[in-house]
Amino acid sequence: MGKVSIGLRGWRFDEDEVFDAEGELRELGKMEPDTRQRIVRLSAFIGEPCDACFLEHGQADVDQCNVGAVIYGEPLGEVLLCEDHEADFLYWFREDGGSEFKGETELRDRFHEWFMKGGRAPEGYAGLEHVDEEPDRIPDAPERAGEIPGLEEELEDLDDDDIEALDLDLSEFDV
Ligand SMILES: [Zn+2]
Repeated sequence: MGKVSIGLRGWRFDEDEVFDAEGELRELGKMEPDTRQRIVRLSAFIGEPCDACFLEHGQADVDQCNVGAVIYGEPLGEVLLCEDHEADFLYWFREDGGSEFKGETELRDRFHEWFMKGGRAPEGYAGLEHVDEEPDRIPDAPERAGEIPGLEEELEDLDDDDIEALDLDLSEFDV
């Protein structure tokens, strides 16, 4: 059983838990609640701008922002980063106190504060970028951001009762 990322790097899932034997995404209702929550949150971040780019450019210049490629943090405290800004996050997390907030939703706000105060990785830190123990294997890998096969359709079909029954927290974004 392998670990896979879906749609974005960062969060990793047990392959058997999220995909069936055919490599199709399982129904949300059949996933563990924590996994389900993460999958649904993750789907909402695909195609969204990098947090750090957004802090730099703001909504007015949102087209200057890179699309996020990697997600860190916990559900409801996610940090979405582009390739360029991932180094800043990793530097903060590893070298400048960020790991204190590991597992906390507060991590996002603390990172944003640090970044807004001018926190950046030193030149060249990107060379230390994290090493995946195993290359990501993504069954039926989405070719482009924004595609998780089957999930969008399933989300569109959910009504409020389903959302409540699945105990999904969809705050902060529209489904
Ligand atoms: Zn960025």
